[in-house]
Amino acid sequence: MKILLAEDNAVNRKLAITLLEKRGHTVIPTENGQEALVALEHENVDLILMDVQMPVMDGFEAIRAIRAKERCTGAHIPIIALTAHAMKGDREKCLGVGADDYVPKPIRTPELLAALDRSRKLRVDAPSTTSPSPAPSPKEPAPTVFDVNDALNRVEGDRELLEEIVRIFTGECSSNMDAIRQAFASGDARLLERLAHTIKGASANLSAATVSEAAFKLEKLASSGNLENAGEWIDTLQREINRLLPELASVCQKVAF
Ligand code: MN
Repeated sequence: MKILLAEDNAVNRKLAITLLEKRGHTVIPTENGQEALVALEHENVDLILMDVQMPVMDGFEAIRAIRAKERCTGAHIPIIALTAHAMKGDREKCLGVGADDYVPKPIRTPELLAALDRSRKLRVDAPSTTSPSPAPSPKEPAPTVFDVNDALNRVEGDRELLEEIVRIFTGECSSNMDAIRQAFASGDARLLERLAHTIKGASANLSAATVSEAAFKLEKLASSGNLENAGEWIDTLQREINRLLPELASVCQKVAF
């Protein structure tokens, strides 16, 4: 893979580069978010490893900028955030701004490699690419992030209506997730249950199975009143949403509403 690395700490940079190059990856090193954005203008990369705390432009801002740009192209480069162990809130914040995953620092090789593996399944090519998309591997069927045909059936083939509900869902996503985090922070299990239920229903209408399932698990957990593991499920739900949104955008472009 061609991997863009943004990391201000020279030791961490050296470590990550060596680790990745040993496994045959090509690494483009940059030292802050701004350098990373510049590099992305002329480099086509398969993955971005983004440190969170950096001078000039931090990881949050850089991830936000990358995702904003992708909203126009329909592309989705997997981003793994590198988060400091002590900064627990950073992890949720990374996912909130559009990272697909995070790896805590100091980096442990197995954790980084596991995240790389997960990220391989995430890449969505821009619809404009000339090469035909590769056939899905038969032994590893991709989970249905968004089943457009099923979704169209639900609205009796009304593409305009589907486009409209996609737009509503997309527009409400981040405020719903903010509300879920607030409910979790204040220990309000009933509210958390209701919010998860809303996302479950909305995503089920879109035939977005992975998001719907994650929301359902969170809803069940909240209804039990025990929020001990809810934080992890909120992260999982956010990850699935982050996979779904580019898929919605790209599929909607492809079927040319
Ligand atoms: Mn740093």
